[in-house]
Amino acid sequence: MIKKIIDLRSDTVTKPSPEMREQMISAEVGDDVFEEDPNINLLQKKVAGLLGMESGLYVPSGTMSNQLAIKTHTQPGQEIICDKNCHIYNYEGGGISFLSGCQVNPLIGENGIIKVKEIEDAIRPDDIHAPPTSLIALENTHNRAGGRIFPLEEIKKIRILSIKRKIPLHLDGARLFNASVATGIPISEYGKYFDSVSICFSKGLGAPVGSVLSGGKEFIKKARHYRKVFGGGMRQAGILASACLFALENNVKRLKEDHDNATLLAQEIKDLSGLYIDLKQVETNILMIYVRHSKYTSNSLVEKLHEEGVASLAIDNQRIRVVTHLNISRDDIIQTANIFKKILG
Ligand SMILES: *Cc1c(COP(=O)(O)O)cnc(C)c1O
Repeated sequence: MIKKIIDLRSDTVTKPSPEMREQMISAEVGDDVFEEDPNINLLQKKVAGLLGMESGLYVPSGTMSNQLAIKTHTQPGQEIICDKNCHIYNYEGGGISFLSGCQVNPLIGENGIIKVKEIEDAIRPDDIHAPPTSLIALENTHNRAGGRIFPLEEIKKIRILSIKRKIPLHLDGARLFNASVATGIPISEYGKYFDSVSICFSKGLGAPVGSVLSGGKEFIKKARHYRKVFGGGMRQAGILASACLFALENNVKRLKEDHDNATLLAQEIKDLSGLYIDLKQVETNILMIYVRHSKYTSNSLVEKLHEEGVASLAIDNQRIRVVTHLNISRDDIIQTANIFKKILG
C-alpha cells in the first residue's frame, strides 16, 4: 500500500472538491478576450465589489496579477519600494526588471512589515540623479514572514503618505482572505487604502487556477491590455472562474480551521528539543519552525519528515515552513505532531 503523504508544503496543493468540480462542469462559458464569459464577468465584479473597487481582472496566476499591477503603475527606469522578503521581489522570477524595467528599493521590514517612516525616508527626491519612486507595494498576509498580518493602523498611515506623495499603493493580497478571517476586518476595509489589490484563489480558497486584480476602471482597462500582451488573455476560462465563485461562497469562513490547525501543530511541537517556534507569530495558516538541532538541519529534517509521511519545505538553512489548508484535517495535524515527536522526542 502507498503511504498517504500529509502535504504541508503549501496551500497551493489543494485539489478541487467534487462539489467544486460539479459547478465547473456545468459552467456557462464565453470568450473572455471579448469580455463575454459570464462567470469571469461575475467573478471580477464580485471581487472588485468586495474590495470596494471599480473593476476586476481575472488572470491565470498571482504572479501575473502582481506583475500586471507593477507594469500598469510604472514606467521603465522607475523604482518600487517593498519589503526585502516580499513575494514580488523574491518569487516572481525577476519580473519587476524583466517585464517593467524597474528597480527595487527593498526595505528590511520586521516580519514583513515595513513602517511608514522607513517608506517616507526611502522615497527618492525630485532630482535628475534619482530613479523616480513610482510604487509602494505591501503584502498581506506575508508569506515569507510566516503568514503575518499587516496591521491596519500602519496601512492607514502608509495610505496617507502615498496620497501626499502621489505614489500608488499596491497590495499583494494573495492571502488577504486569511488576514480578514483572522482579524475580523472585512475585505472592504482593507480595499479602501489601496490603488490595486491582487487576490489568489489557488491558495487556501482551494480553486485550481486564478487570481483577480482589482482597481479603478482606467487602471484595469490598461491592465487588460497588458494582460493580452503578457499572454494572459484566455478564452472560455469561465470553467476555471466558476471554481473561484464556488470558493468565494464555500471556502472563506472555513479558513479559520486552517488557522486553528496551524496553532494546534505549533502548540504540540514547540517544546521539542531542537525546535524553536514563536507562538505569537502564528497568526494564520503558515507555521515557521526554526531548526536548532545538533543532528538535523532544516534540509535534513525535511527529508526525515518526508520519509515518515509529512511533506514540508525548507525555506532557508534554519527554517522549515508548514502550511495548513483545506485538504488537511485536524487528524492529519495530530499525526504530523506525532511524527515530529517520534523523530525528535
Ligand atoms: C502564492 C503567492 C503569490 C502568487 O504566486 P503564484 O505562484 O503565481 O500563484 C503572490 N504573492 C504571495 C504572497 C504568494 O504567497
